[in-house]
Amino acid sequence: MLIDTHVHLDPFSKIEIEEILYRATNDDVKIVISAGTTIESSKKNIEYSKIFPQFFTGVGIHPMDLIEPFSKNHDNELRDLVSNHEKVIVMSEIGLDYLPDMPDRAWQFDAFRKQISIARDFKLPIIFHSRDAHNDCFRVLREERAFEVGGVMHYFQGSLYDAQTAIDSGFYISIARPLFRIDELQDVVKKISLEHIVIETDSAPQPFKKNRENWTEPRHLRSILLKIAELKDLSAQEVERIIFNNTKKLLSKRWESIEATFS
Ligand SMILES: [Zn+2]
Repeated sequence: MLIDTHVHLDPFSKIEIEEILYRATNDDVKIVISAGTTIESSKKNIEYSKIFPQFFTGVGIHPMDLIEPFSKNHDNELRDLVSNHEKVIVMSEIGLDYLPDMPDRAWQFDAFRKQISIARDFKLPIIFHSRDAHNDCFRVLREERAFEVGGVMHYFQGSLYDAQTAIDSGFYISIARPLFRIDELQDVVKKISLEHIVIETDSAPQPFKKNRENWTEPRHLRSILLKIAELKDLSAQEVERIIFNNTKKLLSKRWESIEATFS
């Protein structure tokens, strides 16, 4: 079975999610972990996790969504969400984004540090976002002792050096569909050990794609796995087994809540 470690399903309606999960299950994607980007979106994900057994969640405020400094209120709300809901299994999505016109960097740093601290207090793996900010992300993760909980560098698109730094910092590399189009990424996947890789689709509504059929969905996860198998010259079964074990290890104690759903 496959686990999509990073999606954003909260913007979809309940009916759409039902269909997306149905299509995913048909392609053997049995678990999705939907990331929050704001307090509201984190709450919405939690609501959906109560409806759908295979739906697990992350909570967090995305660096792109900081419309004000990270406050004591935000901190308390996130802590409440983690402590009161068993299906919250990761701190996601947090990080740094240095594209032009992004929120104030001082806000971003502060929110990132404080959310790492929440993750450490609750022993939640951290799924982090980094755009043009890899070195600063690694530095903050080190300074805030994020290696105590570990996690994932999500939607990885960096160099071999970035991949190795993330791995040395106690993190997995998450591979998504850019693998099909970025040669450097294919090279990174060939060179790093499969023991450090997890996979995701980062599925979210894509209204800019006119044909709904072309929207990325969790059902596309297996194609990423098959591409990794091809690059590594391994069988799909072997890659599936190793990535499954990596995901289980990543989730550590939180894996129990997934197992409880299925037993
Ligand atoms: Zn995301």
